[in-house]
Amino acid sequence: MPRILVIEDEPDIQTLLRFNLEREGHAVVVASSGEDGLHELRRQPFDLVLLDLMLPDRDGLEICKVMRAKETLATIPIIMVTAKGDESDVVIGLSLGADDYVTKPFRVKELMARIKARLQRTRDGAADAERKRIQVRGLVIDPVRHRVAVDEVAVPVTLTEFRLLHFLASHAGVAYGRYDLLDNVGGDGDAVTDRTVDVHIRNLRGKIKPYDDLIETVRGIGYRFSETASS
Ligand code: CA
Repeated sequence: MPRILVIEDEPDIQTLLRFNLEREGHAVVVASSGEDGLHELRRQPFDLVLLDLMLPDRDGLEICKVMRAKETLATIPIIMVTAKGDESDVVIGLSLGADDYVTKPFRVKELMARIKARLQRTRDGAADAERKRIQVRGLVIDPVRHRVAVDEVAVPVTLTEFRLLHFLASHAGVAYGRYDLLDNVGGDGDAVTDRTVDVHIRNLRGKIKPYDDLIETVRGIGYRFSETASS
């Protein structure tokens, strides 16, 4: 169920949006001010934000800027909901990284269609990224076939090893703690604990030689796929 955060201070519009979004099958959280909105964003994950520009405290443009500057929030789609006459704000908002906008009074059907399209685009993008073959030097990671090849020779890896390697390589240059890695690769029934992450990494390094240096140990944090190697 897609989770939508509505940052909007007008009670009538809050009610209208909540009613229609819930009817479309979305989970809805409403925040009545910019500060509340940021608080909710820090507290839980969202798939899309409907952002009013005129808010009582921090205005929508500022929220937009804060979200785009923060790695964990940067990719959440933002649709601005603006008052008529705010065209210059719309331009600024789009340049700050908002994805789309509607002008009040908006047609509910149109807004729902735009939300749907935006969510679909996110899903397509995620699916594409997921399917993308990764090649770094002589190492090839193929997420479609769940296969790893070293200098064109397939090497057998377990599902957990594959997921670990693919996850790290998909986020080259980013260091992840063991628990973060567990969150992202767990759930296949293996008894995966933070200690076993180390074991899986050790095994993986052994299997992807001579490219084992691509998986770097980051002291005090965990592991990282070499950034300089990203193709
Ligand atoms: Ca407002």
